Amino acid sequence: MARLLFTAKEFGSLADPLCPPTRKKLEDLIGMPVQYMQQSHSNNVSVVSKIGILQADTDSLISPSKEFALAVRVADCMPLLLYSKNVVAAVHVGRKGLLNEVALKTVEKMKTLSSEQITGVVGPHICGDCYEVGEQMATQIHQTHPATGGKKNYLNLFAGLKEQLAGIPVENLNICTMENQRYFSYRARKDDARQVGVIAL
Ligand SMILES: [Zn+2]
Repeated sequence: MARLLFTAKEFGSLADPLCPPTRKKLEDLIGMPVQYMQQSHSNNVSVVSKIGILQADTDSLISPSKEFALAVRVADCMPLLLYSKNVVAAVHVGRKGLLNEVALKTVEKMKTLSSEQITGVVGPHICGDCYEVGEQMATQIHQTHPATGGKKNYLNLFAGLKEQLAGIPVENLNICTMENQRYFSYRARKDDARQVGVIAL
């Protein structure tokens, strides 16, 4: 069964460059090494079978390994963790990731690895009441991704993700990084630091 966790500000930052003491603290906590990624708001999906610490230019890590954990680093974007009996994934989904369907691509890739009954959890991220964008951008995204709408000029990323991953149960922890001071937020506090979502089989 998969194990997963999300860190808060008090745990420390795991932004670039990866701070060795915080990295070690996380490894000690979960008892295994952690695979990170150099996120670029892409829809590149990487299946990792051997740990390499930092996977270049990807926003989705997928692994069937029980030897290491996968991490996604965020401040306001959604940290999406997906799991099934034999495969887990850590995905970085911001506005760009919602539009480029990185999460959907991840689910499709997991299925090719015989992953069944995939379930997801989304950790602390900016909520639909806080994520304001320009009028033109909001209108455009509300048209193509109706679930993101509701509030003029605001985007509900989680609702958009649920809509995109229809058929996959995805839970929202309902913690907003802008409203909750315990989390790093780039938008609210110009934090360059990052919290993590971590998952392991
Ligand atoms: Zn909020």
